[in-house]
Amino acid sequence: MNNAFDIVIIGGGPIGLACGIEARKKGLRYVILEKGCLVNSLYNYPINMTFFSTSERLEIGGVPFVSIQPKPTRSEALEYYRRVTTNYNLNIRLFEKVTGVENGPGGFTVTTPKALYAAKNMVVATGFYDIPNLLHIEGENLPKVRHYYHDPHFYAFQNIVVVGANNSSVDVALETYRKGAHVTMIVREGEIGRRVKYWVKPDIENRIAEGSIKAYFRSSLAAIREGEVDIATPEGLVTIPNDYVMAMTGYQPNFELLRSFGVRLSDDGKLSPDYNSETMETNMPGLFLAGVVCGGMDTHSWFIENSREHAPKIIDAIVQKRASKAA
Ligand code: FAD
Repeated sequence: MNNAFDIVIIGGGPIGLACGIEARKKGLRYVILEKGCLVNSLYNYPINMTFFSTSERLEIGGVPFVSIQPKPTRSEALEYYRRVTTNYNLNIRLFEKVTGVENGPGGFTVTTPKALYAAKNMVVATGFYDIPNLLHIEGENLPKVRHYYHDPHFYAFQNIVVVGANNSSVDVALETYRKGAHVTMIVREGEIGRRVKYWVKPDIENRIAEGSIKAYFRSSLAAIREGEVDIATPEGLVTIPNDYVMAMTGYQPNFELLRSFGVRLSDDGKLSPDYNSETMETNMPGLFLAGVVCGGMDTHSWFIENSREHAPKIIDAIVQKRASKAA
């Protein structure tokens, strides 16, 4: 087969790219398969977003990340990861989704709509941004319910409900409020999330305190209908007019994909995948996990900053395995 590699890397996010760079440095034959555009998740982040990390903490492959402010924007990150890809001349196939993997005695056979790939090793770096956590309430399937947010202008002068109180929810609430939306936040806990960016938290708390943004704490969205929503509050059910629901309730890795690859998941509700944290190899020999996909339901435990280190771990483990086999 022409498409035979030492490693197939699934996912062209920052960590998939970092794995490609390390493989290239070690002279391994690799290919990165990405279902969307380059760093597809970052491309789909809100257009005005600023990372909470400073730029040097998002660097991969030793390429300096220069940004105007200490914390880079989405556009700067897109520019950076594209330049890194060019710099290392990475072997990446874009808009090529992995739809199946078979594990045989000769290694893995990876299927996409465009080709078949054979590889001795496989790295799964598929992130967590494709599958939103659902609310499981009446009306959730209405088109006005959104789990992704791009641009505040669209929501000008509309009645917006924002579910959640972490970074994404707070950014949506503040940005749409400043474009003239009438914003109501629905927060399960008694306060704004502790992880909210420290320079943003006072802004949202002050907007709530002055009444510019309405917030229902210890509350949950109970039902969604065209034109209105029901909110379960400690004082009882409240119905308010509504045009859009922004359900910023987080995302989860593709557990079905991991299961179909044979990766064991914990049964404690966290669905943590079974892997060796020294090598990142899973219970399936030759199958490695990299990046935020490692976290199971605990998606806050991994991000770019702390999962960049997965790449050298994995490639070192593969190189060592090859060396011991050869010996
Ligand atoms: P991803 O970037 O999600 O990449 C996975 C890739 O796999 C995607 O491009 C996807 O299209 C592709 N893929 C999925 N399935 C398939 C398939 N079947 N076939 C082929 N390709 C597939 N982290 C930080 O360190 N600092 C920050 O400041 C920061 N800010 C953030 C702000 C927001 C709004 C969000 C949502 C996240 C932020 N994070 C931050 C987290 C960070 O972006 C993620 O941890 C990071 O993207 C993880 O990189 P990854 O390569 O593991 O996954």
